[in-house]
Order: sequence, then structure tokens, then C-alpha cells
Amino acid sequence: MTTLLDSDQPAALEEVEQVRRLVTEIPGPRSRALHEARQAEVSSGFGVTLPVFVERASGGVLVDVDGNQLVDLASGIAVTSIGASHPEVARRVAEQAAKVTHTCFMVTEYEGFVDVAARLNRLTPGDHAKKTALFTTGAEAVENAVKIARAATGRSAVVVLGHAYHGRSLLTMTMTAKNLPYKNGFGPFAPEVYRVPSPYPYRWPGGAENAAAEALAQLRDIITTQIGAHNVAAIIAEPIQGEGGFIVPPAGYLAGVAELAREHGIVFVADEIQTGLARTGEMFAVDHEGVVPDLITTAKALGGGLPLAAVTGRAELMDAAPVGGLGGTYAGNPVACAAAVAALDVIENEDLVGKARAIEAVVRPVLEDLLGPGSVVGEVRGRGAMLALELVRPGTTDPAPELAKAVAAACHAEGVVTLVCGTYGNVIRLLPPLVIDHALLLDGVGVLVSAIQRVAGAES
Ligand SMILES: *Cc1c(COP(=O)(O)O)cnc(C)c1O
Repeated sequence: MTTLLDSDQPAALEEVEQVRRLVTEIPGPRSRALHEARQAEVSSGFGVTLPVFVERASGGVLVDVDGNQLVDLASGIAVTSIGASHPEVARRVAEQAAKVTHTCFMVTEYEGFVDVAARLNRLTPGDHAKKTALFTTGAEAVENAVKIARAATGRSAVVVLGHAYHGRSLLTMTMTAKNLPYKNGFGPFAPEVYRVPSPYPYRWPGGAENAAAEALAQLRDIITTQIGAHNVAAIIAEPIQGEGGFIVPPAGYLAGVAELAREHGIVFVADEIQTGLARTGEMFAVDHEGVVPDLITTAKALGGGLPLAAVTGRAELMDAAPVGGLGGTYAGNPVACAAAVAALDVIENEDLVGKARAIEAVVRPVLEDLLGPGSVVGEVRGRGAMLALELVRPGTTDPAPELAKAVAAACHAEGVVTLVCGTYGNVIRLLPPLVIDHALLLDGVGVLVSAIQRVAGAES
């Protein structure tokens, strides 16, 4: 027990017992004091979901500076899929840092970069020749996918979906759908970005069963009549929309997009930054539909907690940019690459695809029990360990963001880290580490369920 808080020791999995344990209120006094200092020193442009300062983390538990152990149902937004501070990542990072921290791959080369590229070329769908370019953040990967598609096609237009999230840089925030907080006041935006309706089954005006066909018809119409297919470099879609609300496209939609792209020589880019690398119960979310994109962006889970991002795809596209046209000082940093090799080893060798499916099998029925006439839960959706509840005013489909906020706050007070997302701010999303202990997971989900029942009770 006393060793739990001894932060001089490197964290190993067994050192942090995989249980929720509260020893103060949340946030505790030390977190509150640190948060006050933060407010004085850090730009208030950074929001925070739960103002608790974390001192160490292991598996599915975050330990805060007051000694509270929180259940992590967020994985730092789908990053620590292999568990927080995985010992293998910690070991290889330490080894790599002691050898070489940085050379810049554009100055002198190192093996880790090539190792990660080869792994991604092999893991991503399709048996065509592939190549990979590494970057540092997801937004950078998306920007570079656009650069590659433009270089390869000689065209400029980029087609994105409603409810999309692609990042916070100028181009990627332009590609992102939601105004507040991502875009408001940050324009003017990048040109040549066109938005088509996302087939959001729960909210599709023509009904969920017609969403795929109608959204594809609109996509085709907008591309051919408004933009001109010969002007379109790329269509970029998240195979399950993340920040937009864990929106799973209806069956057939992604295949239809891929087909339309092929027909017109458009590069189809799957943004798998949140969905990729086992999260949804397949290595990539497009695998659920058997769709093979031309380019795939990855980041988040790729670095096992260190910043690393990639564009992987058809070799002839990946080679379209002129020599020197792609890169970045830190792109594919050796320490991040060492972490990624460790993370990919864990993902493959410990069957994290199977673990994501097992999480869905355990959690989905518990969440679906909340459905029913007059429930505040309008829909349960997602795949694998990327599951969400859309909260609505009982008896309607009207979004209830204040209920989502109240539920998240109740979970936080009890030491369960949950996130809210969605264009309407009314979706509670679950992104547990794929290795999470099932007793711990069910404890966290149980807290969530009782929070929803309490909030719903106060509602009726
Ligand atoms: C998080 C995310 C990004 C941006 O990644 P950053 O590393 O935050 O720049 C892009 N696309 C999707 C789908 C994401 O979930």
C-alpha cells in the first residue's frame, strides 16, 4: 500500500493494483492546488475534462497526486490501448533514449523508422505494394495525406464529411465540422475543402435504413455537379466518426465511397487515427467492411503513449511527392519509434483485437439494458472497445448535452474517467485500454450506469 504512492520507483504493471480507490474527494486538495497554479501559468485555451493531476498510471488505473486510483475509460483519448505506461514501452524507450534520442530522419537515418514503416505496410489492409511516412501528430498525418493526394492527382479539392474531426491545424480544423470549440474565431480557413452529409443513422432524415444509399447519392451529386470530380484529390473519412459522436456509418457506405473514388481517380483516405490498431475489434475499422483505402492515417495508439503518426498507402501515391517534400524535424523520432515497435508487438502478440471484442461482449449488454421507451439513452453504438451512449430528452431524439455533462461529472466524482463527445455534446464515449482488467472495467461501467439512472431519475 505505501509503495503505491512511491513515485521514485519506475511503474511496473503489478505495482499499481488494478482497482478504483478514493482516499480524498475528486479532485483532491493537491490536485486543486496544482490546478490553481496551472490556471496562472497555462493558456486557458486548453480545456480539461477532469482537473486531477496524475502522477503515475498503469494498465487501466490512473493514480493522482492525492493517492486516488481512478478507472481509466478514456485511454488519454484512445492512445494507451496497450495500457498506461506499459513496461515494455518504458523499457524500450529508456534503452533507445540512452542510445540516440534524435538525429532527424532527413539528416541521418536510423532503423526504428524503417521498422515501424514495415510493420504498418504489413498490418494495413490490402496486399498491394505500400509505403509509409511517419510524422508526430495525427493532424500532421492528415495534412500530409492531403499533400500526397494532391501531389499524386494534380488536383486540389478535398471532400470531408459532416461531424468529421481531423485535427486542430489550419487545414485539419477546416476539415473538422464542429465550430465551437475547434474553429470559432480561428478563420479564415483553408480553401478547397468541401463537406458532404455524414450518414448518421440515428439522425438521418430519411431513416437509418436509407442512410447509406441517400448519403452516397448526395456524395456523388456534390462531387460531380458542384465540385467536378476531375478537381477532387481526396475523399477523407473516419470509418467510425470519433469526436463527432462515435457515429458508425451504415453498412455499404464506406464501400460505396471507395468505389466512387476509384471510378473518378480520387484518393480515398481512411482517417483511422482514433479507430485504428485493434480499437474496434479489427486491426482497422475499415476491415469490418472489407474496404481497402488508398491511404490510411494512424496516430494515437501507434506510439504506445509517445507522439507518433503515420500515413500508409499505395506505394505509387506515397512516392508522388518530390524528394524533400515530406518530412518534419521530429517526424518519426527514434524514441517514439521504439515505443511504437513495443506497442505493435503488444497489439499483435497479445491479441488486442480479440481483447477489444471481449470488451464489447462484456460492456454492450450492460449499456443496452439502459435502452427502452422513455429512456434518456437514445442509442448505444460503436464497435469493439469504442462504445458510446447518445443521451436524449426522454421520449424524443432531442440531444441532452446537460445530461451528458451531469453523468460525466458524477462519474468523475466517483473516480471514473469518462469523456463526452458529439456534435451536440450529448454522447458519453468509452475508450478503455484494451488490456483493462474486466473486474475494473465492470466497476467503472457500473458507476456510469448508476450515474445515468440517477440523472434519468431526476429528469422524470
Ligand atoms: C485525434 C484525431 C486526429 C488528430 O490527432 P492529433 O494527434 O490530436 O493531431 C485526427 N483525426 C482523428 C480521427 C482523430 O481522432
